[in-house]
Amino acid sequence: MPTKVHIHDKQFVPFIPAEKLHKKNQELGREISEHYRAIHSEAPITDQNPLLLISVLKGSFVFLADLIRHIDLPVEVEFIGLSSYHGATETTGVVQETIPLRQTIHGRHILVTEDIVDSGLSLRYLKDSLIKESPLSLHTVSLLRKPEALKVDVTVDFVGFDIENKFVVGYGLDYQELGRGLDGIYVLDEA
Ligand code: 5GP
Ligand code: MG
Repeated sequence: MPTKVHIHDKQFVPFIPAEKLHKKNQELGREISEHYRAIHSEAPITDQNPLLLISVLKGSFVFLADLIRHIDLPVEVEFIGLSSYHGATETTGVVQETIPLRQTIHGRHILVTEDIVDSGLSLRYLKDSLIKESPLSLHTVSLLRKPEALKVDVTVDFVGFDIENKFVVGYGLDYQELGRGLDGIYVLDEA
């Protein structure tokens, strides 16, 4: 892992190395698989009724790609695009749907897959709109969460890491669209 990364005008330092992310994905995959095997025996996950992973673009595509390989259940994948940052390092509070969802939610087991929950506004928005379509179940997984930044009450069922309220990049997360390909997570160097 390089000790410093420059993106545009900012400098980032190592925060969560790739090996730790890999281990966490194995744990989350196992936890998720066990959860769905235990809870939904009355309407089990089968090839006819697969778990629907809804990945929130763009940031969660790397996490999704790793996580899905550790979920031992029939899963289907769909994407939705949400944006609340518009290039800055702080959220604007306005959630925009940049790519619409093209899949029936009604009667499905849904697992929303997020990269990071910051203010919680994006996840709140998405959960509210999915609930209206009456899924069979609705759960959420997020690789990262910033508990101190939460502005709305929103439950995340499976969390990889709770982190401090700092801006991070890498492993799918960007700073002004760059840095998504870094294999670990880096944090803004405020020194
Ligand atoms: P929220 O709506 O919870 O405030 O923010 C959710 C979205 O904002 C995340 O899915 C992510 O795209 C973006 N975001 C929040 N915190 C960070 C961060 O520290 N780094 C990056 N790159 N994006 C973030
Ligand atoms: Mg996101």
